Order: sequence, then C-alpha cells, then structure tokens
Amino acid sequence: MEELLEREIILELKSRFFDLISTGGLSFSFSEVLSQMMAILKELLKVDEIDFYGCLEWKQGMLLEATTRLSTNDEVIGSFPACLVSELAEKPYSFIKYPESMPQYELLLVLAANEKPKGLFGFQFTGGSLTRLSDGFFNKLSFECNVFIEKARSLADTMEEEKRYKQLFRVTKKFHSTMDMDAVLGEIISTLREVYPSFTYYLLLSHDHKGYGGLPVKDLEYDSDNLTAMQSYVSGQIQFEDSVTEKNSIMYAPLKGKQGVYGVLQVIAPNSLVFPQNEVEFIKLLANTAGSALENAKLYEQSRKLIADLQLINETSHQLNTSLRLTDTMKFICGQIIKSFNAQEVGFIMLDEDHDDYSVLQGSTSFFFSKDASSYILRIAKRIKQEMEPLFIGDISSDRDDASLHFHSIMGVPMIQSGELKGFALVMHEEPYHFAFDTFKLLQSLIHHSTLAFTNSMLREELEKMVVTDHLTKLYSRGYLDDKMNLSMLEDQQGTFILIDIDNFKSVNDQYGHQVGDEVLIQLARHIAKNIRGTDIGARWGGEELAIYLPGAPLDTGVMIANRLVEKVEKNTDPNVTVSCGVSTWIRGQEDTTKTVFKRADQALYLAKGSGKNKVVVQNEEQSCFSDKV
Ligand code: GH3
Ligand code: MG
Ligand code: MG
Repeated sequence: MEELLEREIILELKSRFFDLISTGGLSFSFSEVLSQMMAILKELLKVDEIDFYGCLEWKQGMLLEATTRLSTNDEVIGSFPACLVSELAEKPYSFIKYPESMPQYELLLVLAANEKPKGLFGFQFTGGSLTRLSDGFFNKLSFECNVFIEKARSLADTMEEEKRYKQLFRVTKKFHSTMDMDAVLGEIISTLREVYPSFTYYLLLSHDHKGYGGLPVKDLEYDSDNLTAMQSYVSGQIQFEDSVTEKNSIMYAPLKGKQGVYGVLQVIAPNSLVFPQNEVEFIKLLANTAGSALENAKLYEQSRKLIADLQLINETSHQLNTSLRLTDTMKFICGQIIKSFNAQEVGFIMLDEDHDDYSVLQGSTSFFFSKDASSYILRIAKRIKQEMEPLFIGDISSDRDDASLHFHSIMGVPMIQSGELKGFALVMHEEPYHFAFDTFKLLQSLIHHSTLAFTNSMLREELEKMVVTDHLTKLYSRGYLDDKMNLSMLEDQQGTFILIDIDNFKSVNDQYGHQVGDEVLIQLARHIAKNIRGTDIGARWGGEELAIYLPGAPLDTGVMIANRLVEKVEKNTDPNVTVSCGVSTWIRGQEDTTKTVFKRADQALYLAKGSGKNKVVVQNEEQSCFSDKV
C-alpha cells in the first residue's frame, strides 16, 4: 500500500515536471522552472518549505539559489557549512536525513553529476511526514529530480546560448557599421544590462580618453588601489575578486584589441548570483569587442593627427618655397606654431659665427624683443650650444626653483645647417607641462624642414645688399646710391637728391595684383632712366620708392627733372598712376651728411603726400641751413 502510494507520487511528479518543460515555450527560464518544480515538490510531498542550494564551481561552495519561502533571511536559513561540500564530494549520498551540519532541515536531497555534487534541496517537514516515506523513495526522488534539473538546465543553456549569439551578433554588427566608439561601448553596456540586469558595470579606461556621454566610465590609474583591475589590465587576463564585506563578487575583463589592452570591464555581481563559465566567456567576447572599438578609435585619432601634422609641414614648406621676404616667412611660421601648438611665444634666435652673440629674427613674437626675453634666450642658448640637441622642458622653474620666470613650458630646437649650429627656435607657454611630446617631435621636423630655407633667405638678403643693381627695376641698388653719394659729398661742390614715391600704390596692388604693381614700378624706372644722364644715379630706394641723385647739380635742375617726371608718369603709365617727389640739395661749406639730405627729401615728400600728391615739394630752405640740428 505504502509502496503504491510512493510510486504514484513519483509518477505524478514526473508528469508534472514534464509539463513544466513542454509548456515553457521560447521564453524558457531555468530559475522559473526551478521554483515551479519546488512548488510541485512542496505540494506533493506535503513539505513545509524547500530551499535549493546551487553549487558554485569557482568558489567551492554552495549558495542559496531558490526557495519556496515568501521571504528569506539568514536566521531562518543559516549559512551553508563548508565542511558539507567536502563531505559530499567524498561520499556521494543521494539524501541525508536529519543532517547534523544543517539541523534546520529534516532532509537534504543531493543532486550530483559525475559523482560531483551539483546542488541540494533542503526540506523542512513538520508533523513527522518524513517518517511516512521510505529510503527507497528518497533515492528514486533524488534520481528523478536530478534527471529533471539536468534536462532543464541543458535546455535553458541551449536557449541562453542562442540568445547570447544573437546579442553578440548585434554588437558585432554595430561595431562594423560605425566608427563611433561611444556607440559601440553603449551597445555593449546595454547588452550586458539586458543579460544580467542586477549586475553593475563600469568601463575602467586609462585617463587619456575623453568624452563618453552617459557611459559608466571610470579612470584606471596606475597608482590606483584597485589592484585586481590593474592586474587584469597589465596581464590581459580575466580576474575575479570576492568581497565578503561588500557581499559581492567582481569580475574584471580586459578590453583587449589586437595591439594592446585599452582598459578593463568591471562587472559587479550581488552575492547571491553565480558566474557560470559560459557567461564568463560571453563577457570576455564583449570586452574584446570593446577593446577593438577603443583601438579603432585610437588608430583613427592617430591617423587624423598624422594627417594634420603632415598638412602643417606641407603648408609650411610651400610657404617657404614661395620665396617671400624672410620677415614674412618668419611671421607665417610663428603664426603656424602658435595656432597648431597652442603656444604663447615663438622666437627664432640666430647665433653669430662664434656663437657669442645672438640676434632675434624679425617676425618672432614681440616678447623676444623685450628685456625679459634675454634670460630665457641665454639659458636655452647655453644648453643648446653644449648639447646640440633639442630641449623639451616641462617646467623650467623646477630646475633651479626660479620663481621669477613667467614661462614654464619651453621647447628649444636647434637650427643646424651642414653640421653647423645657426641658431634655434624657442616656443614657450606660461603653463607648466603645456606641450605634448608629440608636439615636440613635430616642432623638430618643422624646424628641420625650415632651416635650409631660413639660411638661404638670410644669405639672399645679405647678398642683395651687396649687389649693385636692383633685379626688378634694373636701377642701381640702395647700397650703391649710398656709396656714390658719400663719395660725391667728399669730392663735388654740390648735389641734388630726389625721392619718388608712387601715390596710392597699395590700391594698384589690391586692384590688379602684385605682378601688375611690379610692372608699374618697372615703367616708372624706365621714365627715370630716360630722364637722367649717365653720371646721374637712378636707384631703388626701397619697396615702391625710387630715388635720383644728381652729383654736382643745383636744386633747380633737380626740381625741373622731378616736375618732368611727375608729368610724364601721369600721362604714360598703365595702369595709370601718379608720383610725388621730395627734393633736397646740399652745397659745400654747409655741414651736411647723406643722412640729413635724405631726411630733408623725405620730409618734403611727406608734405607732398599731405597736400594732394602728384606733385613736387622742395626742402624747406631754413631746414637746409640747420639741417644737422633737426
Ligand atoms: P601713398 O600715396 O601714401 O604713398 O600710398 P601708398 O598706397 O603708395 O602707400 P605706401 O607708400 O605706404 O605703400 C607702399 C605699398 O607698396 C605697400 C606695398 O604693398 C607696395 N610695394 C612695396 N614694394 C613693392 C614691390 O616691389 N612691388 C609691388 N608690386 N608692390 C610693392
Ligand atoms: Mg611708400
Ligand atoms: Mg606710395
């Protein structure tokens, strides 16, 4: 009779267990099936309460996974004794009645696979219903529960796996469809939240990453006290950390790309949950996808930076090759450096041949022409002369504790031509550690590319001073005129000087371009050449100003020539321009120098410009007598 009843119970159990799986449909959840199974056991066996403990493979312990109780607390259930796990591992009981180590239960029903404990049910009976059932029944019950749980588990696993692959596929698709790293990281985090809603996630990234709207990002610092995270970052391996006080277990998965580790994914699980091995694998795959996304973004950023660097070098080389005046070139390069490197002061310092003295090139920022600049220049010059190497100084005052220095970040790059030190570039900012090392490297290559052009430019300007003929107008050069006039003032009795300036020449350039402007200058030069004699000197005074010196000629000759010129130019230039002239003269016996003669002509020219242009103005007579004193 008893036996018949027991068999019926088993049959009923099996049939209801089967219903659980067959009606589960697509949304099959193991934990749900487990609790329904426990409800069936409770009902059929007339048990008060049942608790289920799952085995934690990686913890060598058991954890309460499900219960029929409405609420759980430690006082009712107690903790799981560690000794029981090893006891069960040694002796594969299928059930234990009145267990000593867990006196809160009347019966422990043990589930095992391959002789290893997988979990156990704790039954609380009151009213002695336990005694009505035989040992044979419990053996059978253990077997059936075991079979069912294994089935349910493997079914759930298969379904979970399918779902995981779908999720993984979605993340991978995102990864391949966008360069936006935030979008990929966001997808990864939201997938994790979907899979394990009760877990907490953080992306621990090394600090040079910025941005990430809304993502749970934390800094990963080398001096961090989170050693486990650091260990995972450095080793590239998954790490676990269980905190007894915080009651949670944490997994750290490195965000690995092909070329390195970019951070760590931190997954914090509340204590009651388990990290099964295949989930660990899944999280690892997601972490690797995140690593690849970070790597891509980094590589993309790098390539964009390289392109920008190349553009800077390219533009600068181009500018250097358009053979502007040195000052214009310098201004351009200083501007580029200020813009691209976010610098405050940029100077180019040239050293003289024996490196004892220096000069600041025109075009450097104005600070370098001030008194304060010399302490920086001398200090850097000294080191560059000694070391012949570029200098990268994060904080110059940390060297010698010098609080008087305003600029702290300094880069100094020597300009070396054919193995010889010509000078150096100095780039400064008041903030310490303002420049990145990349910037320093770029500055070096910029200076390397520019040095030849600089030195050529300087040589050319020197050479120009020395040559006699101006290449554009074919008139004499300024230097030649100076020399001849000096000589004339020693030898002759008198002489007259005419300074000629084109009126509103800027607008000619603006309207027709520099090329046409140059043409006009050439036309003017031809008029001058035609209107003077062989011993007279027509010269390019500078820019669009030309000059004539008439050795031995009195003032009225000069005025006549100047007037004729003004007239001719007005009629015969294309595009049409006018000129203004200032005329000055000297006579032996009055103290006079070329300088004062020039000055008087310049003042007269100024008056001509101020009184309507297209005219000749003669030096003030009074001035000619007291010229030295003016
Ligand atoms: P103003 O009547 O007061 O002289 O007016 P302006 O526009 O001529 O003014 P200013 O003399 O100050 O300007 C000189 C201009 O001439 C500026 C510069 O662009 C131009 N210039 C100087 N040298 C050259 C040159 O060699 N070729 C050309 N095309 N332009 C020059
Ligand atoms: Mg002028
Ligand atoms: Mg002019």
